[in-house]
Amino acid sequence: MNIAEIYNMFDQIGCLTFATIENGIPQTRIAHLFAYDAEGLYFRTMITKPFYKQLTDSKKVSICGMFPSTSISHDDQGMPYFPPGYTIRVTGDVIEVPFDTLRKKAENNELFQLGVKDIEKYPAMVTFCLHKAWGEIFDFDFEMEKRSHKLLRTSFSIGGLQNPAPTVRITEKCISCGKCFKRCSFKAIIKHEDTYRIDPKRCDVCGDCYMACPVKAIEYLNTDLINTQKSDGCDDCCMFCSTKRNESL
Ligand code: SF4
Ligand code: SF4
Repeated sequence: MNIAEIYNMFDQIGCLTFATIENGIPQTRIAHLFAYDAEGLYFRTMITKPFYKQLTDSKKVSICGMFPSTSISHDDQGMPYFPPGYTIRVTGDVIEVPFDTLRKKAENNELFQLGVKDIEKYPAMVTFCLHKAWGEIFDFDFEMEKRSHKLLRTSFSIGGLQNPAPTVRITEKCISCGKCFKRCSFKAIIKHEDTYRIDPKRCDVCGDCYMACPVKAIEYLNTDLINTQKSDGCDDCCMFCSTKRNESL
């Protein structure tokens, strides 16, 4: 996916949840992205807000949203129903963008012109660029109204950061009993003759196959595993990796 496609998927949601960390405590607020270019995705806040301090201290943000609706209805059995749509998230590094730089970008980009206007009106406002990040789209159709499987996951990166999204795999301990294949309601397990494998694009990491497997042949790969394989075991996740060894995985 290119940056324009990523931006458009966020933009059609509009209001997004932005998460930061302050003194080890998660903090969230609703905001929006207002522009993009080859360097990343752009948003604004005020220098007087806690959000600004959290961004400048940690230099990290995580953003997510859901389309087309965030409301939940229930079916006859009381189970939640979501109309087909998608969620999208992105997590990574931010830098503050000087106003002069924003003005320069605005010379031939309408999106940035609106940002300049807003800052001229509210002088405490500042711009940040999410310039190095990973993300993922969960395109869901849980009732399979429009296609034959529930989920299609698409990962993307900005500025070359690798996506450390967790995934699942079937190991060599597999005895080909087929229990996971029957259990997976996401149709994410592919059978070929007597062998089984998991399609990560369809897998929800729901754990049903893990619970069904009689020989513990299903392994969860997550950021902790990636780091212990490649790093000194610092217990940080990939995106915070100070060694950058995660980028070569
Ligand atoms: S974790 Fe869930 S979705 Fe993924 S393969 Fe196993 S049962 Fe299917
Ligand atoms: S349930 Fe376990 S042993 Fe059976 S096919 Fe699936 S992975 Fe293999």
